Amino acid sequence: MRYRWTRGLVMLAVVGTAAVASVRRADSAAQLPAIVSTVPYIDTHAHLEPHPLDASVAAARRAMAAQNARMLIFLPPPERPTADPFDSEPLRDALQDSPKAFAFLGGGGTLNAMIEDAVRTGVSGPEVQRRFRERAEEILRQGAIGFGEMTAEHFAGGTPYQYAPPDHPLFLLLSDIAARHRVVIDVHMEAVPQPMALPADLPSPPNPGELHDNIAAFERLLRHNRAARIVWAHLGSDNTGERTAALSRRLLEAHPNLFLEYKLDPLSPGKTALVDADSRLTPGWMQLLRDFPDRFVIGSDQHYPAPANGAQRWERAVELLNRLPDDLRAKVATENAIRIYRLRRS
Ligand SMILES: [Zn+2]
Repeated sequence: MRYRWTRGLVMLAVVGTAAVASVRRADSAAQLPAIVSTVPYIDTHAHLEPHPLDASVAAARRAMAAQNARMLIFLPPPERPTADPFDSEPLRDALQDSPKAFAFLGGGGTLNAMIEDAVRTGVSGPEVQRRFRERAEEILRQGAIGFGEMTAEHFAGGTPYQYAPPDHPLFLLLSDIAARHRVVIDVHMEAVPQPMALPADLPSPPNPGELHDNIAAFERLLRHNRAARIVWAHLGSDNTGERTAALSRRLLEAHPNLFLEYKLDPLSPGKTALVDADSRLTPGWMQLLRDFPDRFVIGSDQHYPAPANGAQRWERAVELLNRLPDDLRAKVATENAIRIYRLRRS
C-alpha cells in the first residue's frame, strides 16, 4: 500500500501487490514529498555539526519527528590528534535533556586519535595503555553507551585518511574495556581482504597508493574478547568493492559478536550494491539478512543539520527498511538496536 498524505487528506492507493511500499508526506505543493518510516526506528549512526551544537540538536529533533525515528545515536567522527577534539563532553551536555530520544558514543575525537598517534609513533606500552584506559572509562562515566566512531581504514573525505591495524594493542584493550562494561565498539573500516592498490577512482594523495590488508586482523580483534560487541559501520557504502555478501556471511558465521550497520549514500553509492533500483535488498543480501536477522541495524551516517543537497542518507535507509518483510523490519528497525546497545525498551 502507498499512503499519500496531502493537507490532512489521506488517500490510499494500492500499488501492485506490494504489501508495503513507502509512506510519503507532502505538506505543501512547494515542498518535495518526504519519506517516512512505516514503523518507529532507531538510527544507530548519526553525526551533529559541532558549531553551534545546540542548533544541530534542534535540527535533529525536528527531523526525527518527520522521519518517524524513535531514537538517534550520535557519534563524534574519528579524528587524528588535534588541539581541540570534538568528543563526548559536548555531546553529553547537548543531549542530556532527552535521554529517550538521543544517545551517544564517545572516543572518536580522543581514543581514535590516541590509536592514530600510537600507530604513528610505534609506542603503545603500559603508560600509553594506562592513559587510554582512563580516557575510555571517563567517556563511559559521562554516559556514552559505547565507543565510536573508531576507525581502522578511513579514506580521506570529511576527515583525513586514517589507518590503524584493527588488532593494534589499543584496539584489543578497548575490546576488553567494552566487554567489561557491556558496551559496543563502532568501527569504520573499508574492507581490504588482501593488500591492494588504492581503487583508481580515489585520489592519492591524500590517500596512500597501496592499502594494508585488514580482515585477518579484524578477525583477531573479534576473537580477542567474545563479550565485546563490535558493530562494523557502513555496510552498503564500501569504497573498495571488497565488502561482499560472501565476506559478510563468512564473518557473521565465524564471529557471534559481530554486527553490521547499513548505510546507503545517495550521493556516493557503495561499490557492492545492497539494493536494486527499487530500494529492495538484492537476493544475496536478503538471504544473508534472513539467515542472520539479529545482526543488522540501521546506521545512516546522516549529518544534522541535514545538508541542503537533495536526497538524504536517512531517506535511503528508511526506503530499504520500508520494503522489508514485517518480521525482519521489526528487528532491523528497533529490536536489534535495543538488544545490541542495551537501550531501554520504552
Ligand atoms: Zn564512518
